[in-house]
Amino acid sequence: MNKLHLSLEVFPPKKQEDFPNAYTVLDSLSTLNPEFISVTYGAGGSNSKKTVEIASYIQNTLQIPSVAHLTCVGNTKQDILKVVEELKKVNVSRVLALRGDRPSYMTDEQFNAREFTYATELVSFLKEKTNFTLMGGCYPEKHFEAASMEEDLQHLKEKTEAGCGILISQLFFDNDFFYRFLEKADKIGIKADFHAGIMPITTAKQLGTTVSLSGSSVPKKLADVIATYGDNAEDMRKAGIDFAVSQIMDLQAHGISGIHLYSMNKPKTTAAIVSAIR
Ligand code: FAD
Repeated sequence: MNKLHLSLEVFPPKKQEDFPNAYTVLDSLSTLNPEFISVTYGAGGSNSKKTVEIASYIQNTLQIPSVAHLTCVGNTKQDILKVVEELKKVNVSRVLALRGDRPSYMTDEQFNAREFTYATELVSFLKEKTNFTLMGGCYPEKHFEAASMEEDLQHLKEKTEAGCGILISQLFFDNDFFYRFLEKADKIGIKADFHAGIMPITTAKQLGTTVSLSGSSVPKKLADVIATYGDNAEDMRKAGIDFAVSQIMDLQAHGISGIHLYSMNKPKTTAAIVSAIR
């Protein structure tokens, strides 16, 4: 079996007073020795300071490579350069370059006049202005705006050719989507390291929210887990962990070594998965 390349994703706390607790969560996650921890970015570029602060803690205090997510849909080039300067100041040199979803405050006029139309333009801009390591997002079940998987993959190819060598996938629950996606990406010559995005589902409610945000398909096996254990918090948590573990084991058995765990800032659940897959 291939060596496991494990990375984790966390989100910054909403309120400043929650930072100490966030640091405790990160201290716990750091004991799992991930290859990097990525930190999400507020929709439309809100609260970039919190992303920088958490990424800095991971990089400088925990001494683990950190990746700052950076979205460009609501940002001008000047805004992006400001965040770049903040990241440089705290020694963070890895960015997950994203377009982001249209924020609710943006009018049609603002949205149509945005400086960066797609993530590829952000990748090119960062390539020109920095020597950061650039990562990007990819969608095993197709991005919701793309007319077809083929079109989405062509644009993904442009993103990698612009300088993005590592791709982290949208979460998925059915591995077959990921296998088919990798085959198609390979066929059109996309050259990148792929990391499979896995999110453990530990409550029935979480599945509903996750599916509405990601659009990911729910296979029968996962629907059965919810139907069987959804009403019992502890059993559901265990069954959700088992589901994620078996998904990762299957990926590993298919030669996939890059696993990106959406930790949801839950160290115990994350640790249970990591200890089972190692
Ligand atoms: P793009 O790569 O720009 O693609 C968006 C759409 O545009 C696709 O349909 C693509 O096919 C199409 N497209 C690309 N180029 C062209 C072109 N030249 N012409 C026509 N169409 C084109 N959002 C946040 O707000 N904060 C986060 O921290 C965050 N983290 C994420 C982490 C991961 C791993 C992933 C996969 C997503 C994350 N997102 C986050 C969500 C992301 O911002 C949205 O999915 C967004 O809608 C697309 O971003 P993108 O960078 O993938 O866009």
